[in-house]
Amino acid sequence: MNIVLLGAPGAGKGTQAAKLVEEFGTPHISTGDMLRAAVKAGTPLGKKAKSYMDAGDLVPDEVIIGLVTERLQEPDTARGFILDGFPRTSAQAVALDAELGKLERPLDAALLVDVDFEVIIGRLTSRRMCRDCGHIGSAADAVCPKCSGEMYQRDDDNETTVRNRLDVYEKSTAPLIDYYRGCDLLVSIDGDRDVDVVYADVKKALGL
Ligand code: AMP
Repeated sequence: MNIVLLGAPGAGKGTQAAKLVEEFGTPHISTGDMLRAAVKAGTPLGKKAKSYMDAGDLVPDEVIIGLVTERLQEPDTARGFILDGFPRTSAQAVALDAELGKLERPLDAALLVDVDFEVIIGRLTSRRMCRDCGHIGSAADAVCPKCSGEMYQRDDDNETTVRNRLDVYEKSTAPLIDYYRGCDLLVSIDGDRDVDVVYADVKKALGL
């Protein structure tokens, strides 16, 4: 499966991607995770990206397109890929099409996980992430339910930054819904339900 996950930050893309990875072993390419790893490691990319991320703004297209293009060259992606958090702008979508054209690996679907913004604000401000395994949980998790690691709140999950991320999503990323609809690749599911119910729908929508 070659798929793109679309949806606002906090819609549950990462959670659904993790379930697909667990069941099918498809490589998960999350630009947010790649950038957070670069920030943690203090690489030049991480230093460049941090201020954008902390403000909830998008990292410049040329930086992120380069990162994803390189990642797609790695051999594991021949088995397919789940792109999560990319593309987020029209320029990124066009660059992705060009790259996948070169690799002769067209997209099978763009899956939209659809959730209302008010639900998302509540979800994101109470979201916690495991420092060790990246598991996505909530403020109710004292430690990671998967590996007992320390749960922390992402710097960009405070309400001010969340509101900016949603504005950025509406302006720059939501237009991609029409873009993929126009390519006849869009499938949409209601993400405001229990995780496993959403996952069953994800598989149905993707014909898995
Ligand atoms: P995420 O974990 O997907 O919510 O991404 C966290 C942050 O990383 C975003 O708010 C952006 O600052 C940055 N980021 C992730 N993916 C992209 C992308 N495709 N284009 C630009 N910035 C991105």
